[in-house]
Amino acid sequence: MNIHEYQAKQLLKQYGVAVPPGDACKTVEEAQAAAAKIFAVGNKLAVVKSQIHAGGRGKGVFKDGFKGGVKLAKSAEEATVHAKAMLGNTLVTKQTGPDGRVVSTVLVAAAEDIKKEFYLAVLLDRANSRPLIMASTEGGVDIEEVAEKTPEKIIKEHVDPAMGFQPWQGRKIAAALGLKGDLASQAAKLFAGVYKAWWEADASMVEINPLCVCVGADGKEKMVAVDAKIGLDDNALYRHKDIQEMRDLAEESPLEIEASKFNLNYIKLDGSIACLVNGAGLAMATMDIIQHYGASPANFLDVGGGASKDQVTAAFKIILSDPAVKAIFVNIFGGIMDCNVIATGIVAAVKETGLTLPLVVRLEGNNVVAGKKTLAESGLTLITGDSMADAAKKAVATVAK
Ligand code: GDP
Ligand code: MG
Repeated sequence: MNIHEYQAKQLLKQYGVAVPPGDACKTVEEAQAAAAKIFAVGNKLAVVKSQIHAGGRGKGVFKDGFKGGVKLAKSAEEATVHAKAMLGNTLVTKQTGPDGRVVSTVLVAAAEDIKKEFYLAVLLDRANSRPLIMASTEGGVDIEEVAEKTPEKIIKEHVDPAMGFQPWQGRKIAAALGLKGDLASQAAKLFAGVYKAWWEADASMVEINPLCVCVGADGKEKMVAVDAKIGLDDNALYRHKDIQEMRDLAEESPLEIEASKFNLNYIKLDGSIACLVNGAGLAMATMDIIQHYGASPANFLDVGGGASKDQVTAAFKIILSDPAVKAIFVNIFGGIMDCNVIATGIVAAVKETGLTLPLVVRLEGNNVVAGKKTLAESGLTLITGDSMADAAKKAVATVAK
């Protein structure tokens, strides 16, 4: 699950990370009040930021032609005009795809006087089985581009998960970024805070881009997280009731939300062959074999090891609500899964949904004889495969016509 920038900042603030003061606003009136508050305390500049679960907002363009999902404003009036232009409008960025995302919240914050922009992230390095802190002097820009063209500009520091993040590591990263004196100790403390937030929230990633050296009203330099992005591990969300409440369903695919209600692992893809599979590994192998024979999967769907008839029916309905689907490939290897439960579910689902698309079924394993009998006696027209390869070939053939 991902959360919005303003929520990520609330979370980071609890760990002592400095973030610009601001309010999340859902209406123009709220934005106006938030902006008025910012200028009333003596700020000279405010920033209005579209809250969507995608980056590249600064350079994004709205569907009606309005440019920039992040805008600076010199007065409360100007900030209100920006908020009005953003709210309810669809923002298209490099990361949203051409459909863009509807902005229903804007963050109105005090704009910082930025002197320098850095990049900072904490994530899990699977290759090393360790948390990894990445930092770069090349902040504010596309970090993927930095990684590709000037990889030496990315500093990497692994953390021993048993020891935790050590103060000397903070000082080391700060020095590598060229920070000195008080700024270096501020930065080291901030890194420790960001790491702790990442660890305690069971986050998969915390990214601060840009992390800035800003000049405060008192003329002193300070380290501020100007942007923040947090991705969380769904499997650990049950431990974080407060974070669960930050879920924004409007940012998720409606089909994926429906699937999560039935405990189905569904991810929508762009192809034409829908897959219904038990087990994540087999589901991935099924997508591969569809590609191997020349077509593309319409989704990833793992119904799990012990799916019920209701789950199978729900899975069918979800698959069928994707208009791009031209055929369905059911690939079941029954270990814990009873093939007859799947077969009964298929029959019920086909009857309930009035399926007219080609349906290719490969059943193997636990109680397969009963499962095949249920399918044979159902009177449904379906294509059966003797093996996974055979069934995949047949499924591909139905869409190749
Ligand atoms: P993103 O484009 O989605 O990554 O959104 P960011 O929050 O990173 O904002 C994009 C850019 O807008 C930043 O790199 C900054 O250059 C600028 N920006 C954002 N907030 C502020 C601010 O408070 N003050 C100033 N001067 N610039 C800002
Ligand atoms: Mg950013």
